[in-house]
Amino acid sequence: MLDFLFGLLSHDLAIDLGTANTLVAIKGKGIVIREPSVVAMHKKTKQVIAIGMEAKKMMGKTPASLIALRPLKEGVIADFDATVAMLKHYIKLVHESHKDGSFFLLPKIPRPKVVVGIPSGVTEVEKRAVQDAALSAGARSAFLIEEPMAAAIGSGLRIDSSSGVFVVDIGGGTTEVAVISLGGIVINRSVRAAGDKMDEVIGNFLRLKYGLLVGEKTAEEVKIQIGSAWSEVKIKDNKASERFTVIRGRDIETGLPRSIKIGSTEIREALSPVVNQIIANIAEIIEETPPELLADILEKGIVLAGGGSLLRGIDKFIAESIKLPVWRADDPQTCVVRGCLKVIEDEQLLARVKVTGGLK
Ligand code: ADP
Ligand code: MG
Repeated sequence: MLDFLFGLLSHDLAIDLGTANTLVAIKGKGIVIREPSVVAMHKKTKQVIAIGMEAKKMMGKTPASLIALRPLKEGVIADFDATVAMLKHYIKLVHESHKDGSFFLLPKIPRPKVVVGIPSGVTEVEKRAVQDAALSAGARSAFLIEEPMAAAIGSGLRIDSSSGVFVVDIGGGTTEVAVISLGGIVINRSVRAAGDKMDEVIGNFLRLKYGLLVGEKTAEEVKIQIGSAWSEVKIKDNKASERFTVIRGRDIETGLPRSIKIGSTEIREALSPVVNQIIANIAEIIEETPPELLADILEKGIVLAGGGSLLRGIDKFIAESIKLPVWRADDPQTCVVRGCLKVIEDEQLLARVKVTGGLK
């Protein structure tokens, strides 16, 4: 009964707690929050100063007394308090800004049912940590589903049939490779070759080759602007076009600001070890896939999700290397939250795919 009342009074939420971005969607309304997973706080008191985009802008610029950090690293919770603070903030924000007036005499009580996407392969302790974070952020019940499952559902694939589905979710901290059949994950692997690693190798390359120091944010901008996995010639059907960008950083020798112009070929070469590591892991999972499922995958191919799948040409390069059809899901960065939303709207699906969760 109480559960029913809370159900009327609060919005049920789907949350993608990503290492790079947190997305929140409301049942019946769609995606309402899409922010970087960053929290800025006082070092000593741990008092939260800013969350999301505002906090990301502070990264690398905070005075000694403040710190701007990413509470999730490599797909797991690295700073529990900061994760709870972030979840609480978003749950409260959603309830404050989406009072729909139907119960205008009653204050909206933020006690939602939530479905959270978590990386597959997290330990029981880590699952418990995510669930506790959602519950202590005010959720009345928190269900967890595995991200590759959520990504598959979000990209519109049928996960309950006996034919296999192959998902590669390239996020910030990790790339998750998974084979799904009959509503369950048959095999999966999580590797640390993903968006952050790409930024890191770009930073290393600029330092070693040009003696230029740049921050994480600049390296990420370079990747998004001119990064690619495969030569432009191949991506663009033989119309070669090298792309360039100007990078500002600090000269290692002089310590002074300096800018250089750099082309996409060099950045692609810098990125290639990370891209190759992603491909090697896909190949290994294919080798481990039971032959019956492999036949389905040969036919239907691999679906790419996550922000890292937006790297130019990565879909074509994977297809060429693995010799399998590859397609990028529509709006790959929102696949997981859209999958969680479908799950929260469908009790039967929830019962089928949840890995853990329930009432407090
Ligand atoms: P997570 O699920 O870990 O939060 P996301 O799926 O949101 O991660 O993806 C974030 C990653 O995608 C970041 O490393 C970001 O730099 C990268 N990314 C976003 N857009 C692009 C793009 N156009 N090209 C290459 N990488 C991108
Ligand atoms: Mg993700």
